[in-house]
Amino acid sequence: MARIVQKFGGTSVADIDRIKNVALRVKREVDAGNEVAVVVSAMAGTTNQLVDWTRQISKLHDAREYDAVVASGEQVTAGLLALALQDLGVNARSWLGWQIPLRTDGVHGKARIEGIDTALMRERMAQGQVPVVAGFQGLGPDNRITTLGRGGSDTSAVALAAALSADRCDIFTDVDGVYTTDPRIVAKARKLDKITYEEMLEMASQGAKVLQTRSVEMAMNHRVRVQVLSSFVDLPGTLVVDEEEIVEKEIVSGIAYSRDEAKITLVRVADRPGVAAAIFGPLADAAINVDMIVQNVSEDGKATDLTFTVTKADLDRAVKVLEENRGLLGYEDLSRDANVVKISVIGVGMRSHAGVAQKMFRALAEKGINIMVISTSEIKVSVLVAEDYTELALRALHSAYGLDAA
Ligand code: ADP
Ligand code: ASP
Ligand code: MG
Repeated sequence: MARIVQKFGGTSVADIDRIKNVALRVKREVDAGNEVAVVVSAMAGTTNQLVDWTRQISKLHDAREYDAVVASGEQVTAGLLALALQDLGVNARSWLGWQIPLRTDGVHGKARIEGIDTALMRERMAQGQVPVVAGFQGLGPDNRITTLGRGGSDTSAVALAAALSADRCDIFTDVDGVYTTDPRIVAKARKLDKITYEEMLEMASQGAKVLQTRSVEMAMNHRVRVQVLSSFVDLPGTLVVDEEEIVEKEIVSGIAYSRDEAKITLVRVADRPGVAAAIFGPLADAAINVDMIVQNVSEDGKATDLTFTVTKADLDRAVKVLEENRGLLGYEDLSRDANVVKISVIGVGMRSHAGVAQKMFRALAEKGINIMVISTSEIKVSVLVAEDYTELALRALHSAYGLDAA
């Protein structure tokens, strides 16, 4: 007997037929003698709709009420799936975040999980009951509903698997595993049988939305065995594993992209010590994260251009902060560009191989794609290019690194 957490994403519970299909999958594991806990997302499109409604009502919404609204999608699917299971003769009940409780910090809209009290749930599971947990939601220290950030049901599932000491956490989605890059954009993307925690973490944080970044962090820290697989076909998925479990290490194992970035350039900033601190200090104070940064060499030793990226959502606020501090910073002009995409090549093999970045630059140059900003870390190289080139760049890089499916 194994203890398994199964998570079903939005497309897997998009309508009543699909929820019934999910119930059959859950029943199969139960019939095989396993102890199963289920985590569900809202029906596909529901969370977007809810977010949009809060925006239509008020732009600067109260984040606590935002959470009260957007968490509601998962309540519906948890209840419906529990009903579908009961209809199949499976003893099941729904659990909302506050009922468990799944406790989080108070950062509404992107709360972090602090603890899950599973005592009662374990008791019920031991009696043969299947808990159907509403993903994405928790209970804050202010005793109010919180949500875990977009894609947060993945994190609910992994956290529950850790808290229940589950043998496995299966993440069912609309693709049959983790691919070398987004299979919806690159037809030649290849499914990976295994990917390391580190690479998956980098892929997720660089934009591959197949798993929420925090869910991978959590899986890595608690050594949860995560599998990504399809809820529509019966095929083995992708296992997220330790590096030692991978024999054939590719230099580059995946390519991710993020359309979530926006670029700001400050033209002719004074070239003297303390200027970078003066610019990024106020941004940090406003809780705006800066990602990539490039500073040009100044030609006359007096002034230089400084380019950096923030998320698209923070762009307006960032520009406002910089304009308010213009007197202090003394730049001549400010330009902004939201039509950019960050493309990252990722692989643990990079640690021991040179020339990975060079190959990237050459492949993009051959397609006439201009690179605006570059940043690197131990296992990734990222570039910022014009958003219109997203598909062309992904396909060119996918071929250049020999990742294309035969
Ligand atoms: P769910 O609703 O099940 O949580 P998501 O939409 O959050 O599903 O994540 C699945 C999507 O992630 C896929 O449909 C795919 O377009 C996208 N994706 C991006 N990069 C990758 C990748 N490298 N491998 C697989 N899917 C990816
Ligand atoms: N329903 C939430 C979202 O769309 C959480 C999730 O699906 O993981 O972001
Ligand atoms: Mg998701």
